[in-house]
Amino acid sequence: MAKKVLKFGGTSVGTIDRILHVAKIIKKEFVAGNEVIVIVSAMAGKTNELLEQSKNISKNFNKRELDVLLTSGEQVTSALLAGALNEIGVNSKSWLNWQIPILTEGKNTNARIINMNISKINIFLSNKGVAIIPGFQGISKNGDITTIGRGGSDATAVAAAKIFNADSCEIYTDVDGIYSSDPNKIPVAKKIDKISYDEMLELSSLGAKVMQPSAVQTAMMYNIPLEVKSTFTDRDGTKIFSEESIDYSKSVTGVAYSKDDAKITMIGVQDKPGVAANIFEPLGKNQVNVDMVIQNISLDQKTTDITFTIKRDDLLKTIDILKKNKNVKYDTMSHNNKVSKISIVGAGMVSTPGVTYRMFRGLADEKINILAISTSEIKLSVIINEEDTLKAVKKLHTIFDLD
Ligand code: ASP
Ligand code: MG
Repeated sequence: MAKKVLKFGGTSVGTIDRILHVAKIIKKEFVAGNEVIVIVSAMAGKTNELLEQSKNISKNFNKRELDVLLTSGEQVTSALLAGALNEIGVNSKSWLNWQIPILTEGKNTNARIINMNISKINIFLSNKGVAIIPGFQGISKNGDITTIGRGGSDATAVAAAKIFNADSCEIYTDVDGIYSSDPNKIPVAKKIDKISYDEMLELSSLGAKVMQPSAVQTAMMYNIPLEVKSTFTDRDGTKIFSEESIDYSKSVTGVAYSKDDAKITMIGVQDKPGVAANIFEPLGKNQVNVDMVIQNISLDQKTTDITFTIKRDDLLKTIDILKKNKNVKYDTMSHNNKVSKISIVGAGMVSTPGVTYRMFRGLADEKINILAISTSEIKLSVIINEEDTLKAVKKLHTIFDLD
């Protein structure tokens, strides 16, 4: 017997038929003798629909009321699923955020779970009941209903796994795990059986949006093993845990790409202390997230060129800020928003020499020009022209033996 947290995402509970199907999955775990705590998302699309409705009233809809509105999505699935379980002979009960309560701190729409009162639920579990908890929400010290950020049901699941001291935390979704690249675009991509938290974080922030990155981070912090698996197949999913327990036979675990980047180059920037700070400080203050930065070595010791990348959505804002910046002198500025970022990720890279040159050689063989490079311990990213994206991903996937 184990204590399990099972989390079902929006598509998994997107229709009544699917909720009935999920009830069967839970029943199987329960009949096998496990204590089961279920975390649910709202039905697919529901949260967006509610958000739209609030926008039809005001673009600055009151945040406290927005949270009351948005949490209703999970309330609906909690009740439907508990009802479905009772219908197939499993004693089940839903608890709303304030009934538990799930205590949060921080502002409305962006709160954080700090605790849950689990004593009542534990008694219910030991009396052979399945507990259903709505994801994505809680209650503040003042008693206001709060939400914890989009995709927050993952965070609820990880928090519950920690607070209930569960043996496992299983994230049921519409894909059967984490892939070595986007399986929709790269048909030879393979499911990864085991992956470390770090690799998962690099892959998910790079576009493999299977789980909310901050939830993975929390799981890493408390060493809570996760498993991502499909609601719609019986296949094993991907297990996510700490690096020490993984035996790396390959240097690269996955190839990710994102197409929402833009590149800015400033030519003839004065080369003296403080210039880079003067360029980037106003960007940071205006919430522009700078990703890669490259400064060329200055030949004349007077001027240099600086290239950096940002999110494509921030391009116009960034150009505007740079143009208005009186503290930075430069000759010309150019930008390119038709770029994409390709990254190879792998904890095995740390101990394998030659990964860098193999990546560059592979891209060169495909006549793909590299516009910028950045590296970290387990990731190597390049910026290239957007039109070369798939060609590059396919090539890297092949040369690093992932097909
Ligand atoms: N329903 C919420 C959202 O769509 C939370 C979640 O699904 O994780 O963001
Ligand atoms: Mg989700």
